[in-house]
Amino acid sequence: MLTDNLKLVKEKIAESCKKAGRSPDEVTLVAVSKTKPIADIQTLYEAGQRDFGENYVQELREKAEALPKDIRWHMIGHLQRNKVKYIAEYIAMIHSVDSLALAETIDREAAKHQRIIPILIEVNAAAEESKYGVSPEEAPILAEAVQKLAHVDLQGFMTSAPLVSDPEENRIFFKKLKKLSVDSALKRIDNRRVGVCSMGMSNDYQVAVEEGSTMVRVGTSIFGNRIYKN
Ligand SMILES: *Cc1c(COP(=O)(O)O)cnc(C)c1O
Repeated sequence: MLTDNLKLVKEKIAESCKKAGRSPDEVTLVAVSKTKPIADIQTLYEAGQRDFGENYVQELREKAEALPKDIRWHMIGHLQRNKVKYIAEYIAMIHSVDSLALAETIDREAAKHQRIIPILIEVNAAAEESKYGVSPEEAPILAEAVQKLAHVDLQGFMTSAPLVSDPEENRIFFKKLKKLSVDSALKRIDNRRVGVCSMGMSNDYQVAVEEGSTMVRVGTSIFGNRIYKN
């Protein structure tokens, strides 16, 4: 079941790449495993999947401790500054940086572990009330400030598009994020790479890939629906 789902998602990514004249190698599939059991992650790991995304620090820690060490863990949920220390040692990428203060905390915690943490700036591309992230106008300003930090490596931008019935409606937001990433790559102030575009979820990843996504975050289409306990 799970491995069939994984295979299907990969096929659809390849199909969208083909449509857009892109290579599937340009797109990293992050399997979003929040609320899902360790056994499910293990199954996908055995099928070759290495990038997993989580939203909650406590859950991420428990899973990281129990599972193989070569898994690349992505923090994709809203991150409180006082929790950064719990994941700083091993986190592969933090997608949800939305303030300079958070970036500075990540920088400090990364320095303690003598490493550089790859980060993305979260952009609220559709200006939704309920969502975290900076506006597309603020994003380049934050990007410039963050690039001065020695222990974070700003690699690009992330967005979560609105939940819509027709994914075509989100195309304009994906275009907006891609443009941000391309413009910033051109204006980069040092040699760091700012080409990562983390966009596309179960509902809309095919459209996101057509618009240049380099990282899709897919949960439900791989793991099935999430059940939240109170
Ligand atoms: C939960 C989540 C996802 C995955 O969503 P699905 O619709 O289940 O694919 C992706 N990105 C973020 C930020 C999430 O919180």
